[in-house]
Amino acid sequence: MKYDVVIIGSGLGGLQCAYILSMEGYNVCLLEKNNQLGGCLQTFRRKNSIFDTGMHYIGSMDEGQVLNNFFRYFRLTSKLKLKRMDENGYDVVKYNDREYKFAMGYDRFTETMLQYFPKEREALLKYTDKLKEISTAVDLFNLRDTSHHQTGYLDYFSVGIDDFLSSTTKDQTLKNVLLGLSPLYAGIKEASPLYLPMIIHSSFINSAYRFIDGGSQISDLLAGYITENGGTIIRKAEVTDFLFESGKLKAVKINNSEIIEGKNFISNIHPKTLLKIAGNAPLRPAYRSRIESTEETIGVFSLYLSMKENAFEYVNKNFYVFKTDNVWEGAKYTPENWPRGYMMHFSPSSKNEKYTDAIIINTYMKWEDVSAWEKTTVEKRGDDYREFKRKKAEKLFDVIESDFPGIKSKTEACYSSTPLTYRDYIGSPTGSFYGMLKDFRDPLRSMVMPRTSIPNLFLTGQNINIHGVIGVTICSVLTCSEIIGTRYLIGKVRNA
Ligand SMILES: Cc1cc2nc3c(=O)[nH]c(=O)nc-3n(C[C@H](O)[C@H](O)[C@H](O)COP(=O)(O)OP(=O)(O)OC[C@H]3O[C@@H](n4cnc5c(N)ncnc54)[C@H](O)[C@@H]3O)c2cc1C
Repeated sequence: MKYDVVIIGSGLGGLQCAYILSMEGYNVCLLEKNNQLGGCLQTFRRKNSIFDTGMHYIGSMDEGQVLNNFFRYFRLTSKLKLKRMDENGYDVVKYNDREYKFAMGYDRFTETMLQYFPKEREALLKYTDKLKEISTAVDLFNLRDTSHHQTGYLDYFSVGIDDFLSSTTKDQTLKNVLLGLSPLYAGIKEASPLYLPMIIHSSFINSAYRFIDGGSQISDLLAGYITENGGTIIRKAEVTDFLFESGKLKAVKINNSEIIEGKNFISNIHPKTLLKIAGNAPLRPAYRSRIESTEETIGVFSLYLSMKENAFEYVNKNFYVFKTDNVWEGAKYTPENWPRGYMMHFSPSSKNEKYTDAIIINTYMKWEDVSAWEKTTVEKRGDDYREFKRKKAEKLFDVIESDFPGIKSKTEACYSSTPLTYRDYIGSPTGSFYGMLKDFRDPLRSMVMPRTSIPNLFLTGQNINIHGVIGVTICSVLTCSEIIGTRYLIGKVRNA
């Protein structure tokens, strides 16, 4: 059987492309190497707790806002079980032991910040004006047609967020606080472009929501629709080879045996992983070497706390805690001073509104810390790896206990994951937090387009546009536009 479109990888991007194209009558086949669909949307259950792995909150889901509109097209908006976060402080940056709340809405955000920085009105207005300017400049962020090849906003890729903030305020504390969301893009002072934090913050400043009982609701719903539309989903189907004929992709091989043929192919896997599998792909050497040499974002160590019943009250905000004077230092740790900060998320449960049974803490971890076990696979990494994880978990948990006294005694069990876990469950080469690093000093280097020089091979997912739910969703629309036309698809999304 030859499919119209074969999609490799069932991350958010793969699922959305399969949804869009199957809705348009294409005979799609979605291939996923894991048993569970969703990539970073995967959840896991321990005791009675459901843990998200790579989707803790989403932005712009109020009626009329951008994600709400996109998700209405995907028939998700009215189906998802969501909890709107605290509008007076959905994110809290804890810096030098003081808490700074990030409120929803531009005016509320500015007024809240003015309580901490009363002399900085001008700087704060400059900051929020830039948020508005950038989010308005991107066509798809506003559901505008992109067929005129929008390029204006690309300028924001060649300015650094650190430089922008330095030109906005002389107050170092305000600057650090505004950079407090940098773990959301694994920020690096020397590299992070203005565009990235601005798009992310503007999506959350509109509104912020958590998933009740986990984000895998998205993958379950999309998979159901794809199947309803006649699409095929094959789990435990790892693409292990690409078969080319006359410069086009003819088929992929799964699990080193079965051949799946298609007219068109969309890859939702990390571009470096794609190049590794498709070693013989007729791609230009310059393209190949650009992708292969692009740096990755740092990895993540996660601590998952399963809480005792009715022990820890649900907190409707995230914490971004810093143990350094300069927030950029978070990723520059030594074994002695790790961790230099962390993000903390509390999961809402449909069973108990008052208490949480799952708390997730993420902190940076470099690939070098775990590369000694790079040849191992899940559950087969040996006692020394288990001991490494145990020690790291203990150290992080001690830091959490000093910030949230009593949390240990309310915890039933604690689990952890490292960049190796992300490498093996997602397929990113070094288990990076958000895929390839965006660098304002050389913005074109990390810019990968949905279209490749192989006429029937397209790319989608976080490495192609930007990471996160909005970035990946916009990219899915861009990728499918290559097959069904931009104006037509945007019209469908707008009118959904
Ligand atoms: C710890 C963490 C927290 C995050 N928190 C948030 C958040 O709160 N909000 C937010 O918006 N974003 C968040 N993100 C980012 C967000 O999760 C990602 O940007 C997004 O989900 C990536 O989607 P994707 O389509 O690129 O696919 P991915 O999630 O990267 O999935 C790729 C899929 O391809 C499959 N695959 C790989 N190789 C093969 C192969 N050879 N054959 C078949 N299948 C293959 C993988 O198994 C996987 O299912 C977070 C990320 C991390 C890591």
